[in-house]
Amino acid sequence: MKRAIYDEDHEAFRSSVKEFLDREVAPHLAEHLEAKALPREFWLAAGKQGFLGLEIPEEYGGSEAGDYRFNAVLTEELAKVNMTLPSCVGIHADIVAPYLVHLTSEEQKKRWLPDFCAGGLLTAIGMTEPSGGSDLAALKTTAVADGDDWVLNGSKTFITNGYSADLVIVAVRTSPEKKARGITLFGVETDTTGFSRGRKLDKVGQAESDTAELFFEDLRVPGANVIGEVDSGFIHMMTFLPQERLGSAITNLAHAAQILDETLAYTKERKAFGQSIGHFQHNKFLLAELYTRVEVTQAYVDQCVVAHTQGELTPIDAAKAKWWTAQVQNDVLDHCVQLHGGYGYMNEYRVARAWRDARVTKIWAGSNEIMKELIGRDLGL
Ligand SMILES: Cc1cc2nc3c(=O)[nH]c(=O)nc-3n(C[C@H](O)[C@H](O)[C@H](O)COP(=O)(O)OP(=O)(O)OC[C@H]3O[C@@H](n4cnc5c(N)ncnc54)[C@H](O)[C@@H]3O)c2cc1C
Repeated sequence: MKRAIYDEDHEAFRSSVKEFLDREVAPHLAEHLEAKALPREFWLAAGKQGFLGLEIPEEYGGSEAGDYRFNAVLTEELAKVNMTLPSCVGIHADIVAPYLVHLTSEEQKKRWLPDFCAGGLLTAIGMTEPSGGSDLAALKTTAVADGDDWVLNGSKTFITNGYSADLVIVAVRTSPEKKARGITLFGVETDTTGFSRGRKLDKVGQAESDTAELFFEDLRVPGANVIGEVDSGFIHMMTFLPQERLGSAITNLAHAAQILDETLAYTKERKAFGQSIGHFQHNKFLLAELYTRVEVTQAYVDQCVVAHTQGELTPIDAAKAKWWTAQVQNDVLDHCVQLHGGYGYMNEYRVARAWRDARVTKIWAGSNEIMKELIGRDLGL
């Protein structure tokens, strides 16, 4: 079905993203895997192309597209390559960016945004702790005021870009008695004394993304690094969650759709019992079902993209898009592996890696259970 949400400008932008990916990224994918991280050259090249500053005002080095559909196009094209690119770029350019644009002081903007856009200052966001991620309001990392400074102690885990980041937005408890209303966001510059990182975590999939544990030991942060209002961190995080969930949904679906196309091509070529395997009625019907699921889901996600572009996407609709696409993606990819037979279990086949890379989408950025919990509450249950 023809999608109606993009115009010529978006498609021209898509062409420039594709050209960049073919030229700058495709030749280096194996190196990313080996390094278990995206190298700084990647970030600098993406910054040079203007891909990291889509939401950043021009005066601070961005292009301030003012139209979320450009973010969506970028995310879709990255997801066609693999899951890692939209995850890592998304954390920086799609998830952290709104915090740094809407919650920061003029001094912070000047200090961080130009390098953020250029790829010289890589960012991450630390909410999850070893003791739990779903119950964000229970986080335990603390900050205690000391004159104009704050002193942080605690740790975060599973932090995407955490190993390479220069600046991490960290959610910290500043008022122990106030639970959700006692959390503050700090911009922690990672060259600060008292900051350290654990090893790059060994994950089931997405080996190219660096995912790290972060430790804060008597880490002194100036008051000038508070992001937003003291004790309002939880509200700030809730404000930007719809965009985070929508970015996940766009990624999930674009990734699944790409691998499904590749699988269809495979089923036309691969022969068994004298015919291509796609022509067996079971597989033909299965592929018909999978394409239907992807395209019907696309219609919902596109509607969410339009709503978000108009500033109208609700957290609940974003939650629906997030969990549903994660489920569709995992179901589709599992069938894609099956259709590849034994080759589907071989790491050298894209479908095998895609299947492993996608497993996390039902867990991160708010698990499917948490999404359903939110939707259920909205139903008055
Ligand atoms: C590869 C990767 C990258 C990540 N990147 C980041 C990042 O950049 N920044 C960041 O802050 N975090 C990140 N995370 C953390 C991620 O968001 C959390 O893993 C997620 O929120 C779940 O938290 P948890 O792992 O502590 O699971 P838990 O909260 O311990 O949950 C365990 C299980 O219990 C279920 N559960 C919990 N509460 C309920 C409930 N009320 N009802 C029903 N079921 C429930 C959950 O759905 C889950 O199935 C990342 C995680 C991974 C794996």
